[in-house]
Amino acid sequence: MSDTSVLARKWRPKNFAQLAGQEHVVRALGNALSQNRLHHAYLFTGTRGVGKTTIARIFAKSLNCLTGITATPCGVCSACTEIDSGRFVDLIELDAASNTQVDNMRELLESALYAPTSARFKVYIIDEVHMLSKSAFNAMLKTLEEPPAHVKFILATTDPQKIPVTVLSRCLQFNLKQLPPALIVAHLQHVLTEERIEFELGALNLVARAAQGSMRDALSLTDQAIAFSSGKLEESAMRSMLGAIDQGYLFELLHALHRQNGADLLGVAESMATRSIAFDAALQELASLLHRIALAQTVPQAIAEDDPERVRVLELAASFTPEEVQLFYQIAIHGRAEIELAPDEYAGFSMTLLRMLAFAPSRVALPVKGFTQAAVQTAPVVQAAQPVQSRAAHVAAPVATPPAPVVPAAVAVPVLEQIVPVSTAAPVRYADDAPPDWNYLLGRLNVQAMAQQLAKHCVLDSVSEQQVVLRLAQEHKHLQTKMATDNLQTALSDYFARPLKLSVVLGKVEAATPAKIEHQTRETRQQQALDSVASDAFVLGAVTELGATVVPESIKYVNQ
Ligand SMILES: [Zn+2]
Repeated sequence: MSDTSVLARKWRPKNFAQLAGQEHVVRALGNALSQNRLHHAYLFTGTRGVGKTTIARIFAKSLNCLTGITATPCGVCSACTEIDSGRFVDLIELDAASNTQVDNMRELLESALYAPTSARFKVYIIDEVHMLSKSAFNAMLKTLEEPPAHVKFILATTDPQKIPVTVLSRCLQFNLKQLPPALIVAHLQHVLTEERIEFELGALNLVARAAQGSMRDALSLTDQAIAFSSGKLEESAMRSMLGAIDQGYLFELLHALHRQNGADLLGVAESMATRSIAFDAALQELASLLHRIALAQTVPQAIAEDDPERVRVLELAASFTPEEVQLFYQIAIHGRAEIELAPDEYAGFSMTLLRMLAFAPSRVALPVKGFTQAAVQTAPVVQAAQPVQSRAAHVAAPVATPPAPVVPAAVAVPVLEQIVPVSTAAPVRYADDAPPDWNYLLGRLNVQAMAQQLAKHCVLDSVSEQQVVLRLAQEHKHLQTKMATDNLQTALSDYFARPLKLSVVLGKVEAATPAKIEHQTRETRQQQALDSVASDAFVLGAVTELGATVVPESIKYVNQ
């Protein structure tokens, strides 16, 4: 691997102490060197730019330093300086990925049998070793089977799967890790301070993220940024150089999704378009932000204390359910994969956002910023009051009931006062009556995706003062998870404004479940769509005059 970057070359670590990260490898190699327990072949694996060849060269110095085999090569003896400058005759460095060297690879490996010219060990560093030809591997294997005491192989690869097992089994393997962004930032800070180049920390954070765990890439990006800027590395300049998305847009998008406000959502997308932002990159960044939100929901400590976006990430983590975050993440990565199929990037991007909006579980009590907690809490009571007034109608025609408009909680408070003067005492009681219509009731519950699935496949057996009993067919037993049951129980207690225990019993389900009703509605609409296409004058004309046929599967009703 050639380093095009000035900084990467200049700041290439010359000993183990200077190396950033990979402590597990450094410790193991250091122990082996100081106890003189040396293997004859080492394999360093890991993605590009994580330090494989750097460690290999330091190791070569450790083996050949004139002060003796050591974990801390002196750096000043002829062996150390010659290795540093690439002039050491007994260090043979090969790049198996380069065509120019492949031809004589076999001869070079066969020459391993000859003793080193002057050094203690003849060291072969072979980068991207998985690219070696079969004959080259055979030549190496011959040496590895009966290794001469004076030969050391240090192999490096990004793809260990492609190395023959016969070779793998004769190597001591070390897996180098991707460098965490914080470590890259710290190293860049050190380098830039030494170089007397001013920088904004935000700029380094962007570089570290873009480098994806590779220190070499991070240094080379920093090099470019220095050339690109006039003396100081600024976050805004770095952003435009990297084509990075202003995270502010992404937060705005998620806030609009949370408010379920389509106009705001498209407004943000449009202002991104006027800034000619690359939309596939925007979807990638959005997915990456959602990933951080999901981490924050599970382990809040996963978001570093000094992360400049920590507060905003935690805020979003609190306002979405884990299911929503998972859903948005899925939609974002699929949207990105499909963006090439879209009529144009903007269409692909905005359709992806609209899909998130369309599939987001609707919130009954919308906890929107600015609404007081009290208002949010009273909301279910308001809705609970509605079935009392118009229940007869629902029982008569459950399917036909149009969904009640979502009443924003803040507006709903005065309405509540008109209906029930004492707002806290408005539970709906059905104990002496047939249970309410489950399909209608479910539409008004604030439940998460899995609880929704469970509820949809149940019928309502009874509602009493303390208990709600649902019945679920044996075939849908898998939906009855503790998480779904708990969530549904909470939603029911909220709705009826009293603590309720939910029991889901398994049994024969004959009445139509909400899932069945939904299915039937869809079938009916599909049939209507088919009928209307079949009776369409244009279609009839095409069929009779042009011999066209109607492909039923191609007809889809449009949900209005
Ligand atoms: Zn030395």
